Amino acid sequence: VMDPVISCGHCYPCSVGRTNVCAQLKVRGVHVDGGYQEYALLPRKSVHKISALLPWSTAVMVEPFTIAAQIASRGEITARDTVFVMGAGPIGLTILMTAKMIGARCIISDLVDFRLNLTKKLGADVSINARTEDVHDVIKRETKGLGPNVIVDSVCSTKSVEQALALAPSAGRIVLLGFASEPSQVRQLDITAKELDVKGSRLHAGKFPHVVDCFNKKLIDPASLVTHTFHFTEIEAAIKQVENNPGETIKVLLDFS
Ligand SMILES: [Zn+2]
Repeated sequence: VMDPVISCGHCYPCSVGRTNVCAQLKVRGVHVDGGYQEYALLPRKSVHKISALLPWSTAVMVEPFTIAAQIASRGEITARDTVFVMGAGPIGLTILMTAKMIGARCIISDLVDFRLNLTKKLGADVSINARTEDVHDVIKRETKGLGPNVIVDSVCSTKSVEQALALAPSAGRIVLLGFASEPSQVRQLDITAKELDVKGSRLHAGKFPHVVDCFNKKLIDPASLVTHTFHFTEIEAAIKQVENNPGETIKVLLDFS
């Protein structure tokens, strides 16, 4: 499997192992051509060998789980934690599965019932419909008033950042994933009075070996995240599926066989 992150190896972030935020960062499939081609030339360090027993349909899910592994590492998620994942889209669901693999308790919210049903199948301890339930109240009840000590914002709106800061308990950790450029209304008081750790997470820094290992050991089974499969010649229909039915589309697989 191919690591999409291309880093220079000698800037400050690279020198401290943060290759995902390299000063000259390039991402395959974003800044340079990705995998939609017959041949791709890659340096050895960008290629990771998988078990021959893993089907391609499983192997292709390694990369999304490197994003979740990065988030887990930024949020320092352990089995002692109660993690609140805001949003059960493709990223939110990979975080849920990763947090459960680590052994954490996991609360997740979304607006779409299809996704919330999936979160239950994937082991969520509490699934909240933020449209019909009061997120604050449910979390308070479910955590006996303590609040979730790790919050991952995979809704990524200006409002969700504000909610995360308000919800976090003292000594809580918040991981942000959004790329919103509009400012949020952030109260310094929330961060300092509760001494919160607020961290960003982007792509991944060297997480392929760990995630490949988890896949090889079958600690993660990503099959239920693949909601649709198309032959690669039907790529237009596949893209339309993502665009027109985002609520009921998690991962779309292109079959090249
Ligand atoms: Zn660099």
